[in-house]
Amino acid sequence: MSAPDPPRIGLGWDRHRLEPGRPCVLGGLEIDSPLGPAAHSDGDALLHALTDALLGAAGEPDLGSLFPDSDPAWKDAPSTRFLEEALRRLRARGLEPWSADLVVVCDRPRLAPHRDRLRRALAALLGLPVDRVNLKGKSTEGGPGGDRIEVTAVVLAGPAA
Ligand SMILES: [Zn+2]
Repeated sequence: MSAPDPPRIGLGWDRHRLEPGRPCVLGGLEIDSPLGPAAHSDGDALLHALTDALLGAAGEPDLGSLFPDSDPAWKDAPSTRFLEEALRRLRARGLEPWSADLVVVCDRPRLAPHRDRLRRALAALLGLPVDRVNLKGKSTEGGPGGDRIEVTAVVLAGPAA
């Protein structure tokens, strides 16, 4: 009998410019915000970074390769569909997410009031208890580059129990 596969780590990163008057979807939830991402899709930077981290752990191509902007099948698709497809590919390899950690850099909207709700939403999408999913907000304190949201995500995945 062969030894079980060792755990794998995946890293994902995403950034969207934020503009006035656009809906702000994060973690599949609509957030009350004067600014929202400029994007072809819903611009959900949290789910894009998390999806790329899952794909990385699965040894699969990245989000942009699997779901190109140019493909009408994915036009205006909710980003939860990308995450579900990444999970499907991970599970097809006999792996499950074990834990995830995310850092969100954003000045407006402030993340803090939404943090617990976002954390619960991500945990539910991943099928994990909330204490295995963490989310940290950072501000740039007015750094250069205008309003934007930038997310880094790491996922640890391993054999399904
Ligand atoms: Zn994105």
